[in-house]
Amino acid sequence: MDHFQEFSSYIPVDLFDPVNFLVAWAVVFFFIVVRYLLGVGLFYGIFWWKPSARLRKKALYSLTGKKKQIRQEISWSVVTSVIFAFGGVLTGLMWQAGWTQFYLGFDEYPLWYLPVSLILYSLAHEVYFYVTHVWMHKPSVYKHVHYVHHLSREPSPWASFSFHPIEGLIEALVLPLLVLVIPIHPVMFITYMTLMTLSAINNHLGYELLPKWFRNMGFISGENHSQHHRFSRHNFGLYYTFMDRIFGTLKG
Ligand SMILES: [Zn+2]
Ligand SMILES: [Zn+2]
Repeated sequence: MDHFQEFSSYIPVDLFDPVNFLVAWAVVFFFIVVRYLLGVGLFYGIFWWKPSARLRKKALYSLTGKKKQIRQEISWSVVTSVIFAFGGVLTGLMWQAGWTQFYLGFDEYPLWYLPVSLILYSLAHEVYFYVTHVWMHKPSVYKHVHYVHHLSREPSPWASFSFHPIEGLIEALVLPLLVLVIPIHPVMFITYMTLMTLSAINNHLGYELLPKWFRNMGFISGENHSQHHRFSRHNFGLYYTFMDRIFGTLKG
């Protein structure tokens, strides 16, 4: 357990040294790309690569004839991974500088705060994502930036990180900003990033995996986000439907 309570377990080098910064950027990029390829690859293998006829019937749209689109989704996602890796190393640098609200000792906050910090991050991220996403749908921004994500009208899970670099940067900055204000243990921070990836895959899977009773509690999933890709006028949320409800942009 002590291992998780030591700074050097997470950041073993001085990131203020430019060479270390660049090496860390390359290493984090490698991990992000591998996580993307393995994570998305697993879901793609199960749901898109020769699914059984029974499973295919449950798909929200056609799974075939998308080779060119998938190549495009993977290319943009690799570019986004470079930017996400920059966001990751920037977060580490800020931590090293003493600017963040990371805490290392499990006894510094009550244990119940560990899951609560995840919820706080997801709520704040939802507001940030909704506001920036609606802004990116302004025609002048859309045609230069957000159009990349919407090249996939019927996305495959490979579209999870398929963003224009400017959108990638907007997304990459959310965690360094949140960690300035909301305390979190690095283990929960890593857990949050994993959940974020799984949620992105689920939203672009082309299937509805979450049961109706769960969605009725205000969670977004495949069906909700596929409507966004198809019509672009509603369902701007990330994890929850509350922002879409408040601003009247929810379509069930
Ligand atoms: Zn999407
Ligand atoms: Zn959009």
